[in-house]
Amino acid sequence: MKKLLYIALVIAVLIGAGAALVLNTEAGQDALIKRAATSMLGQTPETFDGLRVVVCGSASPLGNDPNRAQACIAVVTPEHFFLIDVGARSPQRIAQARLPLRRLNGVLLTHFHSDHIAALPDVNLTSWVQGRSNRLAVYGPPGVESVVAGFNAAYSLDRGYRTAHHGPELLAPELGPMQAQSFSPGTIVWQDDLLKVTSFAVEHAPIEPAVGYRIDYRGRSVVVSGDTNASDSLFTAAKDADLLLHDALSRTLLDPMIATAKELKVPVLPTIMRDVIDYHADATTLPERAAAAGVKQLALYHMVPAPMNAIAEKMFVRGLPEDVILTKDLHVFDLPANSSDLIIHEP
Ligand SMILES: [Zn+2]
Ligand SMILES: [Zn+2]
Repeated sequence: MKKLLYIALVIAVLIGAGAALVLNTEAGQDALIKRAATSMLGQTPETFDGLRVVVCGSASPLGNDPNRAQACIAVVTPEHFFLIDVGARSPQRIAQARLPLRRLNGVLLTHFHSDHIAALPDVNLTSWVQGRSNRLAVYGPPGVESVVAGFNAAYSLDRGYRTAHHGPELLAPELGPMQAQSFSPGTIVWQDDLLKVTSFAVEHAPIEPAVGYRIDYRGRSVVVSGDTNASDSLFTAAKDADLLLHDALSRTLLDPMIATAKELKVPVLPTIMRDVIDYHADATTLPERAAAAGVKQLALYHMVPAPMNAIAEKMFVRGLPEDVILTKDLHVFDLPANSSDLIIHEP
């Protein structure tokens, strides 16, 4: 027995010495970096035969969790790839999820609050340098033209530098600027034989217009709310949807923050936190409405405030049915084509 323990100890010491050798020698470090680069650059994005929905940003501007990007939902099929809103930090999640930026069909904006549009230039640049073959289409209700024109103007020098440096064959200048595509809320935004994107107006006053989207693909459907109160038009559009991703506000979590900010005499913030209450959906109002609309799965995102730890998450869902999902960044929902299955991959 003693001998066995001795042998195990010797093996452990040898393994430790071997690991130290790999980590602390140049040859060892070079080999590890080569492996990491192969893993990072050599993989092709996974394809899934159906509608895949990836949470690439679950946060709102309120709260301060570095593990949550601001609003972003990716919808991917073997033939399509759309991003619904691209808030700050979402490009990091898009990269982590290995989403196929080269074949990005477009960005669908729900409205033009900064936490929904801030990452447009990064998404435009990264998809351009990955070989996107058309100008990046940015869909949105009226107003999208000025957002896109502004970003295009701000980044015009940057695009020029990139083309000058890498050459117009690699980075075609005509593919650099984004293309605004405006539509009237309530209309079909995009359609082919397999997939349809429908917009609907939501209630986010005084922000007008603001929309949500329903995406239908081979018998499956997902609805993304954008920022809104629990609104009739959304639940009409969400009829019998397989998955509803809805903006959600938790008074359980927000009220103590407002009270504390007041006690500490923090300027401005208590009023801002009070003001947001009437233009986001109180989480407790959603499950019943979703069930009445025939929604199969309700998942909350764009959380106000974004819960920063497990205790805050528990507070956020207090009083909600257990089957309501509080999403995290990189939550993945797989909806196989022509099926009723929902496969959920927790991050
Ligand atoms: Zn927002
Ligand atoms: Zn908003």
